[in-house]
Amino acid sequence: MHNKTIAELALGLRNGEFSSEELTRHTLARIASLDKELNSFITVSSEHALAQAKAADERLANGNADALTGIPIAQKDIFCTNGIRTSCGSNMLDNFIAPYDSTVVSKFNSAGAVMVGKTNMDEFAMGSSNETSFYGPVKNPWNTNTVPGGSSGGSAAAVAARLVPGTTGTDTGGSIRQPAALCGVTGIKPTYGRVSRYGMIAFASSLDQGGAFAQTAEDAGLILGAMSGFDERDSTSIDKPVPDYQADLNKDIKGLKIGLPKEFFSEGLDNEVARVIEAAIEEYKKLGAEIVEISLPNSGLSVPAYYVVAPAECSSNLSRFDGVRFGHRCENPDDLEDLYKRSRGEGFGAEVKRRILVGAYVLSAGYYDAYYLKAQKVRRLISEDFKQAFEKVDVILGPTTPSVAFNLGEKADDPVNMYLSDTYTIAVNMAGLPGMSVPAGFVNQLPVGLQIIGNYFEEGRLLNVAHKYQQVTDWHQRTPQGFE
Ligand code: GLN
Repeated sequence: MHNKTIAELALGLRNGEFSSEELTRHTLARIASLDKELNSFITVSSEHALAQAKAADERLANGNADALTGIPIAQKDIFCTNGIRTSCGSNMLDNFIAPYDSTVVSKFNSAGAVMVGKTNMDEFAMGSSNETSFYGPVKNPWNTNTVPGGSSGGSAAAVAARLVPGTTGTDTGGSIRQPAALCGVTGIKPTYGRVSRYGMIAFASSLDQGGAFAQTAEDAGLILGAMSGFDERDSTSIDKPVPDYQADLNKDIKGLKIGLPKEFFSEGLDNEVARVIEAAIEEYKKLGAEIVEISLPNSGLSVPAYYVVAPAECSSNLSRFDGVRFGHRCENPDDLEDLYKRSRGEGFGAEVKRRILVGAYVLSAGYYDAYYLKAQKVRRLISEDFKQAFEKVDVILGPTTPSVAFNLGEKADDPVNMYLSDTYTIAVNMAGLPGMSVPAGFVNQLPVGLQIIGNYFEEGRLLNVAHKYQQVTDWHQRTPQGFE
């Protein structure tokens, strides 16, 4: 059952091959036996899931089921869940029980999906390896000495290990695409504003965007369709109808213009990863696509500009965790200042503190123009590059990451090197564009991700382009040893 896609499971549920309760019990049993090694879950919500499964079975029997009714899914632990702990991977929120559901979670609830738990993540979504989580690192199911990527590493690893057929994630600089690539699963980050951020704990508000992980593009479209849509409670949510992402999945891609940015294939890209991506491009040629060389001249500035903008926004967003309004409170404070200092000192981990310090610095009087304002100007240049590129091409293809999964601990003491693992993903967030990663092969028995970038609100086209590739390849069906 656990190797089936969401589309297949939905069919099985409808045809009465198994009930949602059976499927949910099977899922929970797999998590209980296999996740000890991976640590991809922070919280498993068994009782809640079984109650939802029973309700889904009734709905299925009554014939008013949606695509996700009765399907087990897991939420990244950044989405608030009413009555269930929402930790954001931090000691700061270790005991936080949200009093409401995020919009994303309530949308899954109305679709009748079954939430089996909350997945592990880098603390406050800051990281590229899932090693900054207060709950310990997540292991990559392809090789448990390597990282799953971050920050949505738990969500990616859980799908790769076939613990659950679909999960949610968030992507501020690459946190869906990068772990999807490193774990060999399909991940999509939609256009900024497509998925509501209400109840999604904020890291860098102008970049954060929710999205999906699944085995296939078809499934990723089912999840994305369920979680997307306008929300008046998020002022950056966009009021635009959500298309049926299944409708165009099979559309012919003959004549599709694919842009290859030369900056994504230069120094810094592992040779063997490059070869895998070139082979994927050959597949697209066979499918009738036309390849066009393009340039994104400012993409090299995306990592440095991001590490000004994202920390600036995080220093402001995280100021609410002061032990008074939100978050961990220290024992026996001497006075208010001591309470703030010790609560924040104890609650936050090292990477989060580093970001807050950098953010406060770049926003401070005297430095604002030199750093923050400058970074915003660079951000505009990056967006302009994409705008020009999309005048010539329909989609942009390239590697998702410069290398395959690295070893646990390998980059933990080298933040700049760690930051560079998002070198091909961050520009997409800076411009607010949609991006995807699909499994495209292996190097040293570790998965390689192919990145597909589209113009604003072209999620349907990305899913179509990914689906066509998945019809002629089987990389997305490979399962790590021990998790078959
Ligand atoms: N790795 C990047 C960071 O640490 C991106 C994280 C994310 O997308 N949430 O900021």
